[in-house]
Amino acid sequence: MVSQRIKDELKAEVLELKNKGITPGLAVIIVGDDPASRVYVNSKKKACAEIGIYSEEYALPAETSEEELLALVEKLNNKDDISGILCQLPLPKHLDEKKVINAISPLKDVDAFHPANVGKIMIGDYDFLPCTPAGVMELIKESGIEVKGKECVVVGRSNIVGKPQAMLLLHENGTVTICHSKTRDLKEACLRADILVAAVGVPELIKGDMIKEGAVVIDVGMNRLENKKLVGDVEFSSASEKAAAITPVPGGVGPMTIAMLMKNTVRAATLNK
Ligand code: NDP
Repeated sequence: MVSQRIKDELKAEVLELKNKGITPGLAVIIVGDDPASRVYVNSKKKACAEIGIYSEEYALPAETSEEELLALVEKLNNKDDISGILCQLPLPKHLDEKKVINAISPLKDVDAFHPANVGKIMIGDYDFLPCTPAGVMELIKESGIEVKGKECVVVGRSNIVGKPQAMLLLHENGTVTICHSKTRDLKEACLRADILVAAVGVPELIKGDMIKEGAVVIDVGMNRLENKKLVGDVEFSSASEKAAAITPVPGGVGPMTIAMLMKNTVRAATLNK
């Protein structure tokens, strides 16, 4: 599995850093008791332990005030044994996510959500790549498909996935189309894609008849159905009949996101030393 290979490489890199007196450290903040967030935070902590990254968890009650949260971020910005800070989103409604993201030091912003890092991604000169889009790029690379000159369609335009994804594909010389909820003919756009990335949050929106024969399909979606089943934004059964390569949910992009977070944390340790 690609994610395991990346984690193994990082493990070796962390050992080397430790020999030089540098130990990467990740602080994870979680506010409230959203069950999905709890699962993600646990996976991140587990990955840290596996790789040899020091980690701290700050589990705050849902009623935490913005002042308290910002004070914690400030404390972590100045904490020498912490190289990366991650605040698990979504936050409870009374907290302003933008303010919290902006408060994280750009050099410790391992999610790459801070406007300074977003701007750097835009111009292609970055310290950190956003974890999910970077994971998608690794999966595309692994499939052996060159992005250069290909029709790339990204469905979804969130700041966390869709927009940075489109930018990374553009940096690799893809011809990129971004679709969203106002796109007039989604099927027509998807059918043009040599590389299709779905980051929508609508269970199985993309069906096999929207996919070009031989396309590479990356499904970022993670949707929990009422029966507790986890499904992607792509209908795997029909899509896999058309696609040359397709990622499953669960097990495709999810583990890559965590591997890339680990990569950013190791990178942060060298930036903050
Ligand atoms: P957002 O809700 O922030 O964005 C969804 C995007 O999809 C929006 O741009 C929206 O358009 C577009 N959209 C919604 N409905 C349609 C439709 N019917 N047709 C076309 N476009 C549509 O979601 P995220 O980007 O944060 O996440 C997307 C999915 O990826 C979710 O399932 C999430 O759980 C998953 N995810 C998975 C990760 C992983 O590690 N595997 C990490 C992060 C997210 P508009 O802008 O017009 O509203």
